[in-house]
Amino acid sequence: MRKKIIIGNWKMHKTQAAAKVFAKETVDLVARAKQDGIILGVAPSYLSLEVVKKHNKRLIVAAQNVHQEEAGAFTGEISLPMLQEIKIGHVILGHSERRQYFNETDAALNLKVNRVLNAGLVPIFCVGETLSEFEAKLTKTVIARQITIGLAGINPALVKKLIVAYEPVWSIGTGKNASPEIAQDICAFIRHELMKMYGKSKANQIHLLYGGSVKPENIKAYLSLQDVDGALVGGASLEVASFTKLVMNLK
Ligand code: PEP
Repeated sequence: MRKKIIIGNWKMHKTQAAAKVFAKETVDLVARAKQDGIILGVAPSYLSLEVVKKHNKRLIVAAQNVHQEEAGAFTGEISLPMLQEIKIGHVILGHSERRQYFNETDAALNLKVNRVLNAGLVPIFCVGETLSEFEAKLTKTVIARQITIGLAGINPALVKKLIVAYEPVWSIGTGKNASPEIAQDICAFIRHELMKMYGKSKANQIHLLYGGSVKPENIKAYLSLQDVDGALVGGASLEVASFTKLVMNLK
């Protein structure tokens, strides 16, 4: 039985002081959500990872990226051993902003996914089509490419740990969310692709999230879909009040 997972992606928001306030103010929320079978997490900036972990021990704390090499001359990057040292268990990979502004390719992301899993962490692997691809009816072609290249060669024993987020690029931060019908159709398609690669029983254990303008008002429609196991949330995860409402509105 797959659990429900809600992860807030804070992007380049919140100082350490602000992250600490959020962490402290959501301790009870995380405990209550857990009782209802909902797992909560946030992805702060690297600088706030430890701060959030320290002040909210049951919240999943994810990094927003990691470099594929263990060490080296890669100015500005962060490695897996650095995340492991501070006991970070999850990493977002392939967010559309990383793909778009930092030229992350499917092949480079495949290296990252495998290294993250082999190091014992959970990748939250993002896929999604741009507006022009959506309008040209290329959504499934794009997603199939992102999945078959990005998620190739995974150790079969680790496949079930994967979290995959379907985030149509045209819906991120725009207020134009994909309809629940689209979210279900594409998440079912993703699961089908994963079945072809890794078999039915493993694919059925993988958590699939929808992301793109998820708000307290629409979260329930997504999380009641058969193949959507949670949400990756940007804007609505930044304030304690709206993060709390996201969880409360699931009831
Ligand atoms: C995101 O950045 O992953 C995201 C889904 O953002 P928003 O919820 O603001 O659309």
